[in-house]
Amino acid sequence: MPATLSFDDLKSRVSDGTVDTVLVCFVDMQGRLMGKRFHAVNFVENSYKETHCCNYLLATDLEMATPEGYASTSWQSGYGDYVMKPDLDTIRHVPWLEGTAMVLCDILDHHGAPVSHSPRAMLKKQIARLKELGFDAMMATELEFFLFENTLDELRKDGFRTLKPISGYNEDYHIFQTTKEEGIMRPIRNHLFAAGLPIENSKGEAEAGQEELNIRYSPALDCADYHSIAKHAIKEIAWQNGHAATFLPKWHKDRVGSSSHVHQSLWKDGEAAFFDKDKDLGMSEMMGHYMAGLIAYAPDYTYFLAPYVNSYKRFAKGTFAPTKTVWSVDNRTAGFRLCGDGTKGIRVECRIGGSDLNPYLAQAAMLAAGIKGIEDKMELAAPTKGDVYEDAKAADIPQTLRDATELLRKSTFLREVMGDDVVDHYTRAAEWEQEEFDRVVTDWEIARGFERA
Ligand code: ADP
Repeated sequence: MPATLSFDDLKSRVSDGTVDTVLVCFVDMQGRLMGKRFHAVNFVENSYKETHCCNYLLATDLEMATPEGYASTSWQSGYGDYVMKPDLDTIRHVPWLEGTAMVLCDILDHHGAPVSHSPRAMLKKQIARLKELGFDAMMATELEFFLFENTLDELRKDGFRTLKPISGYNEDYHIFQTTKEEGIMRPIRNHLFAAGLPIENSKGEAEAGQEELNIRYSPALDCADYHSIAKHAIKEIAWQNGHAATFLPKWHKDRVGSSSHVHQSLWKDGEAAFFDKDKDLGMSEMMGHYMAGLIAYAPDYTYFLAPYVNSYKRFAKGTFAPTKTVWSVDNRTAGFRLCGDGTKGIRVECRIGGSDLNPYLAQAAMLAAGIKGIEDKMELAAPTKGDVYEDAKAADIPQTLRDATELLRKSTFLREVMGDDVVDHYTRAAEWEQEEFDRVVTDWEIARGFERA
């Protein structure tokens, strides 16, 4: 589905006064839209060529800290600028904000080269490698999240203590309960659709207050753009309606976590290249190699699916979140699920990623692993069956951010396909996240030990 506005369309909307503001955005390491709000006249006359941002924006954390230890940016090198280069194929209306359009940017250095650790550049690099093998990737990322009764500002002032989900019970596939939430979910679906995102549906998920939004599968870069825009819109539209939306993977130990499953298939000349009607399950030999790579290297790239301390709280038995890096046929207890077997819609769904993943990084890492599987003609093991949580032979997903960080640091595979500079950059981000956590005295420690230790 094309973006809804060409540059010429935008210019005419600006001259007739329907658009007065352009959000010029890029996606940061955390998957957030960052950037500036331009007066639309300035954008169409001048800034559509480029604008600038401080380079710490791709070396920071959720709090906008300036940690030491990044080779690309530092106090010593003076925190200079990057170029934000608008990708004019991504201009779209922002129907939930008055008179507003949006464009996504690529991040370039002063010589016009893509900044290698910028998420959009990382995904583009793997898409180009795949293209050299003759394939295109089609992807879909599911967005799960929770809605709460109060606004984000009220919850923050309360120290996030009184978190009341918007519904009183598990609303998985419920029509009645989700009717009560249509004040938020209907504008989310309709505004995003009007912004050019191929929205499929929303549904209640398997916990009180939990929602899912599905967007039709698309070429990988579009899929990642859609995901980032949709996640942003969900937060904004919930806020406009006096409620809070969170993509924190695990907000309560007794509640199910939120994930972002990633559906993947490769295509050649518009035909489904994962499908071979003469093979078992309709799975082409190439798909077997792709999946073998995906599974073998899952521990190396788990950080890109689970980037925070909290992400790892989601991986628990009996919760629909996986704990093992194996595959299975239409079985939701394995890390990788084969869907659409025997049909042209055959695809693999990775169930490891949390709702906090950055879709560009997750897809870049998985494509790289799949490509490696194809290049090395890796053999796919037989599928697992039954309750995979109890399969003692199956390999575990890394269980902590610390483990995932070490696997990322030591990954010769990721260093080969992403570059040492990129792996070092994200290893530093992961380490910093852990260091920040380790400095904190948590509520749990106080409650457990204050009186009784
Ligand atoms: P559900 O599991 O909810 O019934 P579907 O099986 O239809 O939904 O699809 C789940 C997700 O997989 C959707 O976002 C859909 O667009 C995506 N999908 C369907 N076919 C493919 C494909 N060939 N490649 C990648 N993603 C796909």
